[in-house]
Amino acid sequence: MTRAVSVLHGASLGAGFALLEGLSSFIHPGLGPDARSGEVLVGVVAWAIGGALLGAAPQGRRLVPLGLLLAVSAHAGTVLGLPWLAPIVLLGCFPLVLRPRLLSFVALVSACVPSSLRDVRAEPLGGTGEDLVLITVDTLRADAELGLTGAWTRCDEAIAPAPWTLPSVYGLMTGSAVRHHQGGLRAGTGYTVADEGLVRLPERFPDHARGAFVHNPHLRAELFGRGWDRFEQADTWRAPLLLQHSLGRWSERLELGPDPVRQRRDEALAAAAEAWWEGAGDGRLLWLHLLGPHEYRRSGNGSRAAYDAQVERTGRLVDELVRSLDADRVVVTSDHGERIEGPSPGHGKDLADDQVHVPVWISGLVECSGQVALIDIESWLRGEVPDATVVELGGVRADPQAFEARAEGGTRLERSAPSIRALVDEPDATWVERLEALGYVDE
Ligand SMILES: [Zn+2]
Repeated sequence: MTRAVSVLHGASLGAGFALLEGLSSFIHPGLGPDARSGEVLVGVVAWAIGGALLGAAPQGRRLVPLGLLLAVSAHAGTVLGLPWLAPIVLLGCFPLVLRPRLLSFVALVSACVPSSLRDVRAEPLGGTGEDLVLITVDTLRADAELGLTGAWTRCDEAIAPAPWTLPSVYGLMTGSAVRHHQGGLRAGTGYTVADEGLVRLPERFPDHARGAFVHNPHLRAELFGRGWDRFEQADTWRAPLLLQHSLGRWSERLELGPDPVRQRRDEALAAAAEAWWEGAGDGRLLWLHLLGPHEYRRSGNGSRAAYDAQVERTGRLVDELVRSLDADRVVVTSDHGERIEGPSPGHGKDLADDQVHVPVWISGLVECSGQVALIDIESWLRGEVPDATVVELGGVRADPQAFEARAEGGTRLERSAPSIRALVDEPDATWVERLEALGYVDE
C-alpha cells in the first residue's frame, strides 16, 4: 500500500468513526448532554485529520484503528469507572494487527459503544401518594429571583443548617442539624460522613417511586444514594462524543475557557429527571439539585452580574421543568447562599446571613411567616410549614460541638454565651425551651 492510500485510509477511517459516533448518540440519546450536529461535524474533520497524519506513519494502516480503539476504550473506561479497560482492549485487539481490515471494522463499530452506555430509561416503579418535587439550586442567595411563573408562596426567612453543600445537604436529607448528624465536617484531608443511624428523606416516603438527580461533586451516590430507587450524579457523566469530551477537559486544564459540556449539564440533568418522572408512574418523589449559580466564578468573572445571569438561566430551566412535571407539590430552595461582594467572597466560611439565609418557594398557597428551619424538608413536601423561632447552625469548623443559633430577627447566639438571659431582653418560655433543646444552658 502506498503512502497516499494509507493516508486516505486513515482519514476515511477517522471521519467514519466520528460520523458513527455522532449517529449513535442521536439514535440513542441518554444521560449527559446531547451531542450537537456542529460538534459532530468538527469531530468528523478533526478525526479525519488525525487519521490522515497517523496513516502517514509507517504501519499507518494498523496504527489508525489501534489508536481509535485505545481512545474509545479509555473513554468507555471513564464512563464505567474501569481505568484498566483501555489496556485490556488494546492487548485483546493487538493480534488483529495481522488482519488490518478486520481491525478497522472493529474500530468503526467501537464508535457506538460509549453512547450505548448512557441509558436513561426508567423502570416503571408505580408508587402511591402525591407527586412531590424538591429542587435545590446550589448557592442561591435569599435575594435571588428565579422568576417562576404560576402560584407560589415564598418564605422570606428560611435558614439553611450550614453555609456550604455537604453539611447543609446532609441536614436536608436527615432532617437534623449539623451537630446531630455530624456530617461534612473537616477531618484530615476529607470530611466526616453523617450518622448512618439517621433516617434519610426518601426513606420517609417508602410508598413513593423515588428518584434523585444531582449535580455537585460532593453529592456522591455512596453518601446520598441511600433510599432512592434511582440516583444519578451528573458529575460522573461523560460527554457523548470522544472529541467533545477531550476538548472540554483540555480547555479547562489549560485554562482556555470553561468546558462547554459541563455548562450544559444542568439542562441534561433536568431532561434525565423528566424522562425518569414520565416513566416512573404515579406517586413519585423527585429530588433535583442544580449547580448553575455556583458556577458564576468558573463561567463568568465572579461579578454580581455574572451571578444574576446564572440565576436567570437556572430560573428559566426550573420554571420550564416544573410546568412540564405537573406535580402535586413543588419546593424550590437552596443549600446555602453566597457572599459576592466585599472581603472574603464565597461561602462555607462563616455562619453569616449572606451564606445561610436562603429563599424557599412552595407551589400553591401555604402559610409561611417568620423564621423557618430549612432542615424540615419533609414538612415542606407534605405541605406543612415548620415553625421555628430558633435555628441551629454549624458546619464551618472541625469541632462538631461548635455551633451557633440564629434567633428570629437575625440575632446570632454563640454556644459559648454564658447566659441566654443576658442576650434577650424579654425571654419567652418557648424560646428558652428551644434554646435548651439545642444544648444551650440557662445559667
Ligand atoms: Zn452548595
